[in-house]
Amino acid sequence: MATMRGLGIENFFARFPDEGACLDHIFAAKWGDHSPCPHCGVIGNWSRIHGTKKWRHKCRRQISPLRDTVLYRSNLSLMAWFYAMFLFANSSTGMRSSFIRKQLGLGHRSAYRLCHMVRVHMASMARPSVLGGVGKTVHIDEAYLRYLAVKGHETNTAAIVLGLACEGQIICGSVPDRRANTLIPLILSRVLPGSTIVTDMHKAYQSLETYGFKHIQINHSVAFHDFNGNTNNEIEAFWATVRRTLHSYRQVSPDNFWSYLAEIEFRYNRRNSRHKVFEELIGHFEPYSCENESVWRSRFEWVANAGPITI
Ligand SMILES: [Zn+2]
Repeated sequence: MATMRGLGIENFFARFPDEGACLDHIFAAKWGDHSPCPHCGVIGNWSRIHGTKKWRHKCRRQISPLRDTVLYRSNLSLMAWFYAMFLFANSSTGMRSSFIRKQLGLGHRSAYRLCHMVRVHMASMARPSVLGGVGKTVHIDEAYLRYLAVKGHETNTAAIVLGLACEGQIICGSVPDRRANTLIPLILSRVLPGSTIVTDMHKAYQSLETYGFKHIQINHSVAFHDFNGNTNNEIEAFWATVRRTLHSYRQVSPDNFWSYLAEIEFRYNRRNSRHKVFEELIGHFEPYSCENESVWRSRFEWVANAGPITI
């Protein structure tokens, strides 16, 4: 393990010895020889403008590869960003900002913001919007996670998170409560018709069959499987990872809780292709803006849609 990690760091510094190497990488990821010039539509024929972070196309128009990314106008070096993403990608239980601060020699605020923005970047990445389908089984469960630091409270407050798992992929989001009126619409908009749904005995799930799903309820007070061998292990394994990670953070602010869920879900869904996680983080940049951050936030902060349930 130690050698694998050491090798990773050697490779990292061999590939990204300076700012220019990081910038070249971002340019290649966004434009390179595969995306047409936004001004004239011709592919390729770019040249770096010496002493700047810009490239000039053959048509003489310029672009800045950092524009519209989470890294734009940051006062941190690109190497700091890349190294932070490298650490986040390789960690199994998250990265505390105090650790990043020491590793990168940053101030408290810079380290905190850097960690937040890496999580926002993870939240922008591809994730399933729906799960299941005919012949597929979706495991659903909700968890109480007592990791929210609320001003005026000495002990942590709990967040409720709903998780859906199917064939090794998870989608999760925080929910205001565990009532049927909250949970059922959230499930209907995320689980495809024809799915079999496995849950525990919680009352809120009892109406699922009326919406056309095959519903299996496992009575945990009797056993962690039913007599046909159905278990909810798929989602339990995810909760174990969520708890381990949040435990390492000790407490998180309620306002940013969604970004921690994004981080955990992002890594969990890629747990079988860990070596690609860092490449994905430095190879794909969704346009960043405050509006887009709210959209990404809503992926992990679930509010039941008002109005009657329709399918
Ligand atoms: Zn052009």
